[in-house]
Amino acid sequence: MTMDVHGYAATSPESDLAPFQFERRDPRPDDVVIDILFCGVCHSDLHTARNDWGWTTYPIVPGHEIIGRVTSVGPNVTRFRVGDHVGVGCMVDSCRQCAACKEGLEQYCEQGPVFTYGGVDRQDRRPTHGGYSDGIVVSERFVVKIPDGLDLKGVAPLLCAGITTWSPLRHWKVGEGSHVAVAGLGGLGHMALKLAKALGAHVTLFTRSPGKEQDARRLGADQVVLSTDAAQMAGVARRFDLIIDTVPSVHDVGPYVPTLAIGGTLVLVGYLGNLDPMLNTVPMILGRKSVAGSLIGGLPETQELLEFCGAHGITADVEVIPMQDINAAYERMLKSDVKYRFVIDMASLKA
Ligand code: NAP
Ligand code: ZN
Repeated sequence: MTMDVHGYAATSPESDLAPFQFERRDPRPDDVVIDILFCGVCHSDLHTARNDWGWTTYPIVPGHEIIGRVTSVGPNVTRFRVGDHVGVGCMVDSCRQCAACKEGLEQYCEQGPVFTYGGVDRQDRRPTHGGYSDGIVVSERFVVKIPDGLDLKGVAPLLCAGITTWSPLRHWKVGEGSHVAVAGLGGLGHMALKLAKALGAHVTLFTRSPGKEQDARRLGADQVVLSTDAAQMAGVARRFDLIIDTVPSVHDVGPYVPTLAIGGTLVLVGYLGNLDPMLNTVPMILGRKSVAGSLIGGLPETQELLEFCGAHGITADVEVIPMQDINAAYERMLKSDVKYRFVIDMASLKA
């Protein structure tokens, strides 16, 4: 019972995404078969489609903020039933045996997690394809439950933008009275504002875009600092316990470090690669400050985030688009013109 699915794929770094038909595997005993309803559009999708990181294999069907409805389950599936609303994020498998996997940190699996797209299935060695498609087959361990009462379109971005900012907020124990800053107000940044605020932190946005101030305040920022204005940056010196830097391209991290409190951490989640200009260790050493990195979040933490969002009524601010508009959405994302996450309505694939 292989499943024929319709989706959109890029076939080279230069090509637009275009209709692409492919097969999903025969369901295994622990598999959940999902009809995809919505899929968020992450900047990582764009990086991958255009081979910005140099490791893309084509054709590539992006999409790792997947919300769908279960249409069938294998005989060993215990947590899901036909009709349930479920989510799939950035991973669809891992070794499940190593210390990281046993701790629920599948994203740091010693053998490497199998990513939802651009990965290779551990059993059949076939390429994995993501959520810009109308169906997916995923082992139940990598499927999460969606709490009742949340708008499904707005839940999709929690599966990547949400968990990628939630995980550092939790790891660095942000709570009542913490001072948190977020650099960049896009998909990840707007979730970071909402989540940090809901955890009780005093929240600041660093942005290059003066026009985003009003939105930032509505999303949870107590303060907005133009990162290009040295006087405004000096005004928040030694302030933050945690800075979550979501900027997607190489940028000068140096000006942010002096805004960390003693013992504070700047965690890079946006940019992969060498920093340029190089990081000066002096302000770090003189204040026991750290510059760190963080990758998405594991399955238990993703479920925890969804429960937290269910309890606090938190979803992403989304602009729903038909699949056919994906290439225009990418161009807008490159101009930082996203308010604040595009989400594809998969019904458009059937239109
Ligand atoms: P996005 O929606 O495009 O938002 C990025 C924001 O960063 C922009 O809205 C803009 O905000 C700011 N920005 C953009 N270019 C900049 C530049 N050159 N200098 C300074 N600021 C700039 O992207 P996203 O989906 O949130 O993703 C952000 C990054 O995180 C991407 O690189 C993505 O691949 C990565 N990511 C990492 C993980 C992980 O696990 N670590 C997970 C998901 C995504 P302002 O207008 O406010 O300045
Ligand atoms: Zn993502």
